[in-house]
Amino acid sequence: MKIGKKNLILNEIGAQMEECIFCNIIDKKSKAYIVYEDENTIAFLDISPVFLGHTLIVPKKHYVTVMEAPKEVLESIADDVKFISEAVMKATGSEGIMVVNNNIVSQLVHHLHVHIIPRNFGDKFSYPRGPRRRYTEEHMNEIKEKIKSEIATIKNN
Ligand code: AMP
Ligand code: ZN
Repeated sequence: MKIGKKNLILNEIGAQMEECIFCNIIDKKSKAYIVYEDENTIAFLDISPVFLGHTLIVPKKHYVTVMEAPKEVLESIADDVKFISEAVMKATGSEGIMVVNNNIVSQLVHHLHVHIIPRNFGDKFSYPRGPRRRYTEEHMNEIKEKIKSEIATIKNN
């Protein structure tokens, strides 16, 4: 269904959502280099890899963030992270692996996914070494208490 400039489709409950490139891959309407698939998840090569072998693990049901996805969905992603990391490392001969998941900020595709990126010492990919800050003890304690309080609220619901 076309509404305005955006290409919209109807999901199962009839709500409008933007057409999703990863749902199209899951439905085999778009091409992807699929490396793994089961009833819960699919994994395929990133189209613009940081390094060759960069793989995305994607739940088959459409959720945008980890906060939104049910625990069982995250568990199935975690299972995949373990063996796909090992497989990518062995297949590429990399010395390490970076596991990344962007939520809202820096999230270009609004369908939950985890990046499995092969890394090597001295590969010049500097993401984990971005600017870091020091905060006062007062600020650290204040945010610690706030996060603990939010965890307690979430756990009690
Ligand atoms: P993020 O910024 O965490 O949302 O990352 C989205 C990733 O999806 C990027 O690394 C893109 O290169 C990748 N991507 C976008 N379109 C496709 C596609 N059609 N097939 C495979 N990967 C894609
Ligand atoms: Zn989707």
